[in-house]
Amino acid sequence: MNPTLLFALFAFIFGTIIGSFLNVLIYRIPRKLNFVTGRSMCPHCEHPLSALDLIPIVSFLSLGRKCRYCHAPISWRYPAFEILTGLSFALVALRFGLSVDDLPIVIIGWTLSAILITLSGIDLDTMEFDDGFSIAIALLAIAAIVLTNGPVTWHLVGAFAVSLPMLGIALLTGGFGGADIKLMAAAGLLLGFPNILVAFMLGIIFGSIQAIILLRQGKSGKTMMPFGPHLALGIYLAFLYAPLIIQWYLSFFN
Ligand SMILES: [Zn+2]
Repeated sequence: MNPTLLFALFAFIFGTIIGSFLNVLIYRIPRKLNFVTGRSMCPHCEHPLSALDLIPIVSFLSLGRKCRYCHAPISWRYPAFEILTGLSFALVALRFGLSVDDLPIVIIGWTLSAILITLSGIDLDTMEFDDGFSIAIALLAIAAIVLTNGPVTWHLVGAFAVSLPMLGIALLTGGFGGADIKLMAAAGLLLGFPNILVAFMLGIIFGSIQAIILLRQGKSGKTMMPFGPHLALGIYLAFLYAPLIIQWYLSFFN
């Protein structure tokens, strides 16, 4: 098997295992439950889960989408987030390669994916997410700048390029939540300028598409819609492809 594909497959499987843990975080962080030592349990009957119940995707399918103990249906969200994490890890591996030199950026990409997926799941469930996620991304950014010897100035410009205008809009219209602004400040420090602009543009496009779908379904314009997942997807795609997207965009002007 081609070594690149083998690495991507490894990354996918590793990602589904991490994704299974992210499901636990998404469930426990908003409920202020201990997520380090507490054992996994069925959210319906609270029966502790065995290792056999926790194999990503496989357990969900082999158990017929039901809890082994109380037979309550298991949400499709669990395997979906496992697959999503697996795919996001595999894409990072394919994008940044498998040499030893690439390892720091691959690990940074995997960590970023895990943080973004967790905050998206929590934002979908509760319409808010903790500043801890943005702090984690800011720390990741500092690690990335040190490890890759990145240009500090452009990372600092990135931290303010989107977050400051968002803060202005929020103060004038209340259009953005504080958590979204802090997320874009931290992501800007990681992605740098101008890549953070790509992340924001993508987030706005994805958010607009969902807003149009909600309006067409007859929801009012005031329906609450979490913006975090859209920004998170924009940040992830910009981390992978911002230079390519900017090149593609500029090609229209030559
Ligand atoms: Zn159960």
